[in-house]
Amino acid sequence: MTRIAFLGLGHMGLPMALNLVKAGHDVVAFDVMDAARQAAVDAGLTVAESGVDAVAGAEVVITMFPAGKHVLDAYQGGLLDAAAPGTLFIESSTIAVDEARAAHELALAAGHRNVDAPVSGGVVGAENGTLAFMVGGSDEDFEAARPLLEAMGKRIVHCGGPGLGQAAKVCNNMILAVSQIVVGEAFVLGERLGLAHEALYDVVSQASGQCWALSTNCPVPGPVPTSPANRDYQPGFAGALMAKDLGLALKAIEQTDTDAKMGRLAQELYAAFASGDGAGRDFSGIITDIRDGRV
Ligand code: NAD
Repeated sequence: MTRIAFLGLGHMGLPMALNLVKAGHDVVAFDVMDAARQAAVDAGLTVAESGVDAVAGAEVVITMFPAGKHVLDAYQGGLLDAAAPGTLFIESSTIAVDEARAAHELALAAGHRNVDAPVSGGVVGAENGTLAFMVGGSDEDFEAARPLLEAMGKRIVHCGGPGLGQAAKVCNNMILAVSQIVVGEAFVLGERLGLAHEALYDVVSQASGQCWALSTNCPVPGPVPTSPANRDYQPGFAGALMAKDLGLALKAIEQTDTDAKMGRLAQELYAAFASGDGAGRDFSGIITDIRDGRV
């Protein structure tokens, strides 16, 4: 049993914290929002009065915040000072690689340990304990974090040193965004050539164009009954989250001066998609904008 402070009880954090309790850990939770704290109490979690209170006495601190700014503010705003020396900070929010490295340096300078451990798998994965964790940090800290991550996820990958969990996440989502756009373009092109959705699906799902954006998140209704297209593009993975992740990818592309034209274009297209009602729709809904000539 590990004494864990879990901070950030939103869509992802609350079910993740509950899975740690289920696995027998002693969890004290906190969120800055009253409604999130109340939902946590209703779900049976022990909730502290503040982040600092939650952290005092914890062996491990897990953060699941919206963005990097929240992480750096919280680390510097009392969490690092309140924690006992040598506390392991597991940072699971999706944040920029350079922010993850800055958080790591702050934690180390305060006498603590830190790994970045962003996730994929969405709310369903958080609820079912089937998230994938991409971890950046030392071998020793990864091994210390692993049993806790296993209580919340089913695939735990050590990607390398500090920040490299976030690097893997940003690269994966850039591939995903580009492939979701081109799968949408292919279905629209097929429509205009007289090709039925089912026929295109039957060919590509068994051919070299096969990918997750087609075989799981198929952007037209019919071929994959569980894909968001069958429920008017209810997420799934919302356009706003994809736009956020591509913003992090763009930052990394610029910082490393990488010639990533497709990644840059995907960022532009999803920023436009998420500036309208695409923010709340599954990101595969970009096919509607492609069909209507709005991208
Ligand atoms: P969310 O906005 O639902 O939850 C974040 C919570 O953090 C909020 O309740 C907020 O009040 C709280 N918070 C902010 N600052 C805090 C502080 N200092 N102390 C305590 N609580 C604080 O977001 P989410 O959907 O749960 O996502 C969390 C992170 O996971 C994000 O970085 C997101 O990009 C990433 N992510 C989300 C999904 C998804 O499907 N929702 C999938 C993969 C990764």
